[in-house]
Amino acid sequence: MSDTTSEPPSTETNSPTPGASAGSLPDVSGISVDEWPARELTLHSGTRSDGFQVVYRRDVLDSIHSHGQSNTKVEVCGVLVGRVYRDSAGTYLLVDACIAGEAASHAANVTFTGATWSKIHDEMDRLYPEERIVGWYHTHPAFGIFLSEMDVFIQANFFNLPWQVAMVYDPIGGDEGTFVWRNGMPTREPVLCEPAPPATEEPTSLKADEFAALEDRLSVFDRVFVVMLMLFVAILLVLLIIYELRSTAPPPPGPVGWLQWSATAHGT
Ligand SMILES: [Zn+2]
Repeated sequence: MSDTTSEPPSTETNSPTPGASAGSLPDVSGISVDEWPARELTLHSGTRSDGFQVVYRRDVLDSIHSHGQSNTKVEVCGVLVGRVYRDSAGTYLLVDACIAGEAASHAANVTFTGATWSKIHDEMDRLYPEERIVGWYHTHPAFGIFLSEMDVFIQANFFNLPWQVAMVYDPIGGDEGTFVWRNGMPTREPVLCEPAPPATEEPTSLKADEFAALEDRLSVFDRVFVVMLMLFVAILLVLLIIYELRSTAPPPPGPVGWLQWSATAHGT
C-alpha cells in the first residue's frame, strides 16, 4: 500500500497533545493521570482494569460494524474520536464518535489519502471541535485480527501519541480487537463498552410534543364538533317549529277547507 500516507493528520486537531513524549517509544503507562479531566465510568458489563483502559461507546461500535459490513470486498477505514479521562483506577480512553474514511480502491490495504484527511479534519472541526482523534479503525474482511506491517507503519506515523489506538474489525468473522501502545508496540488489549447516552430522551420528548399538538388539534376538533352539533340541533328545532306551525295553521277559507283542517287536526 504505497499511497496510504499521503498526508499526515494536522497537529491542529490533536493539539494540545498531553501525554506526548517526544523521543521515547509510545507507551500508555507513560500517560500522566493528573492532566486529564475526572469522569465516572458507566459500564454495561465487564470490569475496568487498573491503569489505562479503552472504552467504546456502544453506538460507536455499532457505526463501525455497519461501516465494515457495508463493504466486505475491500478494507474500509476511519478514525476514532474521543477523549482521555481519569477515574479512581487511572486513565481511560473513551471513544465516543468515529468518522468514516474511504474504502480501499482495490482489495488490499486501506488508505488514508489527502482527500480522506481533509474530510476527517473538516468533520472534526464541524462536529467534534472539543474532541481529539484518538486512533483509527479498519476492517480485515475474513482475515482475522492483527496489525500488518503497514498497519503498524500507519499507527507509528499518524497515531503515535501514547493514548492513540488501532481497532481492527473483521466484518465476516465478526471478531474485533483494539491495540494500544505498550513499549512502542501496538498491543491487543481487552476493551469495555459504555452505553450510549440516553438518545431515546429526545424522541420521547418529541413524541410528547407531538402528542400535545395532537391533543390541541383534538380539542379544536372537539370545539368545532360541539358548535356544529348545537347548530344542527337548532336547525332541527326550527324545522320542527315550522312544521308544527304549518300543521296548526288556520284553515284555508271556505267550508271545505274547514272540514279538511278539522279532520287533519283532530285525526278524524
Ligand atoms: Zn490491516
